[in-house]
Amino acid sequence: MIDGGFFSKKETSSIFRPDGRTYSCASCGLYRNAKSPRMAPFGNFKKKILNIGEAPGEIEDSRGKPWQDKTGRLLQRMYKKLGIDLFEDCLNINAVNCRPMNKSGGNRTPTNYEIACCRSRVWRIIRERKPKVIIALGNSAIFSLIEHRWKKNFGNLTKWRGWTIPDQDIQSWICPTFHPSYVERMDSPEVYTVWKQDLSQAFSMLNTPFPQYKPDDACIHIIDSPEELPSFPELAAFDYETTGIKPHAKGHHIICASIAYDENTVYSFMMPRTNSKRQKFIEFLANPNIKKIAHNMKFEDTWSTVRLRQEVKAWYWDTMIAAHILDNRPVVTSLKFQTYVHQGVPDYDSEISDYLKGKDDKNANSFNRISELLKRPGGTTKLLTYCGLDSLYTYRLAIQQMRKMGI
Ligand code: URA
Repeated sequence: MIDGGFFSKKETSSIFRPDGRTYSCASCGLYRNAKSPRMAPFGNFKKKILNIGEAPGEIEDSRGKPWQDKTGRLLQRMYKKLGIDLFEDCLNINAVNCRPMNKSGGNRTPTNYEIACCRSRVWRIIRERKPKVIIALGNSAIFSLIEHRWKKNFGNLTKWRGWTIPDQDIQSWICPTFHPSYVERMDSPEVYTVWKQDLSQAFSMLNTPFPQYKPDDACIHIIDSPEELPSFPELAAFDYETTGIKPHAKGHHIICASIAYDENTVYSFMMPRTNSKRQKFIEFLANPNIKKIAHNMKFEDTWSTVRLRQEVKAWYWDTMIAAHILDNRPVVTSLKFQTYVHQGVPDYDSEISDYLKGKDDKNANSFNRISELLKRPGGTTKLLTYCGLDSLYTYRLAIQQMRKMGI
């Protein structure tokens, strides 16, 4: 068993965070001033859609039900247009269960702390009710669902909206989009159209089979040397872990490599320091009949040429470029983000990501800290596992992209 999956399940369900603060209903305290404290989920859930809004407003608080005001009616109308009854087909909850009020008694946006306090309730409802599709309406809902499992730059709605994420922890499609109050406020045909498209795509996931993948540890084969690689496939994704970003400066080398042979098989190995021992891998790079895939192929290309003195033959697919072609929003092309939004794996690198950073981030020739990781107990297995996952997820992503592009 490969230790990790790198993401601890305990953390998702726990009300304790690494900063030691308790995130609970009592510590939040909003329930004290609410007319409808801890509002119950509302709706008949006939189509197994869970809507997550932001928080009850004044009218919802006084009636004890979500989506009762003008904003709620806008949401209801849009759902109806798309063939969904907001209260019959869905269950409705909010990221924060009790009404947040400002000093003058008006509605206000909940704080991140209040959302974190209510998170274990949101997650309990998801685990108990097992929705097929979760519509995350606005920033607070996305924050509640994703932020605690996303160890990188969380960003905001612009980055998250429009994806249909097959979340492997929840086993539901997570579909983030605008909150109806934003659509109301913007009063723009463009925003309205994008919102409608997001929702229509989200509802179409009700009839889309949920992707099931073989467990990572059944896919990864850590081998002692590239000499043990079985005969090569016609299409393969590969990845390196190296001592830094650029290969040219003295002392840099390729530490390890992995090759994904298909969507469920990847081989991961330390790169031998002698030509004779890495011969089989060189044959892989040089073979014009093996179509090669990488995420940012320029990286593997340069390191191969400079450090292994072998040009890569038959480049076929770069998942980073394809990601940009399919969606040209900034900050969505990293492999980590693409792996989450398309394969539903929210975090597979946080345990080692600190070791991957350069010691001097202003110098592209600086060394990272992988050599320190290798000295730690289990460090080599962690690195080889991580490298293997990079190739495996790249291969799966390439196949998904090719299908989308009709290739
Ligand atoms: N806005 C929300 O986010 N939720 C409601 O329930 C009503 C308005």
